[in-house]
Amino acid sequence: MTLPLLPPWFDSARDEVNAALGAGRLAHGLLIHENPGAGGLELARWIAQRVNCGIPARAPCGECQECRWVALDQHPDVKRLSPEEDSTQILIGQVRDLSAELALTAHGRGYKVAIVAPAEAMNHFAANALLKTLEEPPARTLVLLVTSQPSRLLPTLRSRCSRLRLAGPSREDAAAFLEATRGAGAWAEALAATGAGPFALLDADPSALAQLRTDTITTLRDIGSGNLQPPAVAEHWAKNELSIRLSCLESWVTERILESASIRDVTHLSEAALAPKICRLFEFSDAIRDMRKLAHTSINKTMAVEALLWRWARQ
Ligand SMILES: [Zn+2]
Repeated sequence: MTLPLLPPWFDSARDEVNAALGAGRLAHGLLIHENPGAGGLELARWIAQRVNCGIPARAPCGECQECRWVALDQHPDVKRLSPEEDSTQILIGQVRDLSAELALTAHGRGYKVAIVAPAEAMNHFAANALLKTLEEPPARTLVLLVTSQPSRLLPTLRSRCSRLRLAGPSREDAAAFLEATRGAGAWAEALAATGAGPFALLDADPSALAQLRTDTITTLRDIGSGNLQPPAVAEHWAKNELSIRLSCLESWVTERILESASIRDVTHLSEAALAPKICRLFEFSDAIRDMRKLAHTSINKTMAVEALLWRWARQ
């Protein structure tokens, strides 16, 4: 996908890269630490265009053949590493092939670039193999590691890289970006449903996500008021879009916590009356987060969802 314009929340990362290049001190290894869905991969592509553009005075122009190849992941000097089909990991063989490729002379006049995304998908052996390349980097090579969870990378790998932070946009900016890229839609609701940044939603159906959010929150309210019992919905939730439903719950509960906190600031309502309510919201929020961590394991999801919803029913 070619973006019409670089999103505004890329500005500081872009300026940092331009300054480092201008001063001739761009590191061989860059760790792009993105908030989920903020566009780390897109930033990595922009950097690859920046150092390979055919019109250096306007780099990256976005229009020359080099820039277009990078945008399509077809540039001969820009390699992308991600888990292969049927795997959740980046394996050592992939990294060895990449390192051999980086050692060769560039086809064009720019840099050889490796983009590893998501970098935390490298298993231990793969990460160690990449470390060797970063310790003795061939000239004019760049290794770009894209991750939203830098703590899951080898500490030695992290210490070999310069950190480039890409924070996510506000909900409004994210919705405006999606509207400009994909057209009108229920983007604010879709963003609230997933809790992720706009790049996670580029292929999403916003109405379906908005509907799922409405359904999830309405069901939770019905459970809270006693109109619905957890066993009536647990199995359906466990089998249908559980991870998005958990994101919907988490973002909704977070909003309620913020709301309660602001009421506390501006009114004379008794703190004693509000405190237990906020405590319960925090407890429920923790329980949702624990459940999200377990949702990818082999636990009995129906039972886990039921237990989670009973916590809300008994509040
Ligand atoms: Zn160009």
